[in-house]
Amino acid sequence: MHPDIAILVKNQENVSAEWRDKLHGVEQRHYTYSSPLGNIIHYTLQCNTERVRSTMAKTNATPTPVKCRICAENRPSDQLFIEWIAQPSGNVFDILINPFPIFPAHLTVVSKSHRPQHIDAQDIQDFAFYSKMAVFFNGADCGASIPGHMHYQAAPIECFNIVEDAQKCSLGENLTDCASYIQGLERNVILMTTNRSDNAMEKFNALMQQIHRTDDRMINVLVYWNESQEQFLWFIFPRQKFRPDRFFAENEEQRLLISPATAELCGVIVTPDINTFNRITVDDIHTIISQS
Ligand SMILES: [Zn+2]
Repeated sequence: MHPDIAILVKNQENVSAEWRDKLHGVEQRHYTYSSPLGNIIHYTLQCNTERVRSTMAKTNATPTPVKCRICAENRPSDQLFIEWIAQPSGNVFDILINPFPIFPAHLTVVSKSHRPQHIDAQDIQDFAFYSKMAVFFNGADCGASIPGHMHYQAAPIECFNIVEDAQKCSLGENLTDCASYIQGLERNVILMTTNRSDNAMEKFNALMQQIHRTDDRMINVLVYWNESQEQFLWFIFPRQKFRPDRFFAENEEQRLLISPATAELCGVIVTPDINTFNRITVDDIHTIISQS
């Protein structure tokens, strides 16, 4: 993690008691799932009641709220930030501590200007290099809680189970010169690798074209700088649907309140609902992730 970000985390915690111990009381369980191909897949299940806003957020046609929660003038007055400028685009972002974290040091990286959620592959790659964290993007229709205002999120790389799980997997046929489906994780996920000198936007757009995606509304992405390989590793999830059928189950006993976004697809499953937390099985989790 960049030292300036570590300082931001510390300073925010020192502002007031409200910013400390945000993950206190959040329960977690760890699961391993053995796939028929013999791959071991790790899932972390988290019960986090503060996440009710994002899990239950309306999808599609979400109207831009009258007051955008992440525009600078509407943020809590005690929320600190550092300004960061992406290169070479010159796009300006504010780095904030997420007030409803899933992870320790969970950042929201918010565009300075109010503009719609849309990935800029060069910007997100640049932030991954600067921060040395895993940076993620939720498309407007698959997890972005404020689709009206462009934002990324970031957290320490080791928080995401997929990073280790993917290392034991093989790759399918090439989709482009630097991207292939990952085999063995039993979910729709592409691994793309780029170098520092690559034009990430070109590489990303070539892939989108290859998989016939015309926009990023149903795309989740996680990217990080792999120090030993000296490459960026991208996990790209072209989505079929946002919410699992059991999210809408009429029978409350059957209902599972999970809205898979990048964190979930990377192995960290969040529910705001204690009943879901208590009743869900590892098979349920795996089914949800593999059908997303
Ligand atoms: Zn805004």
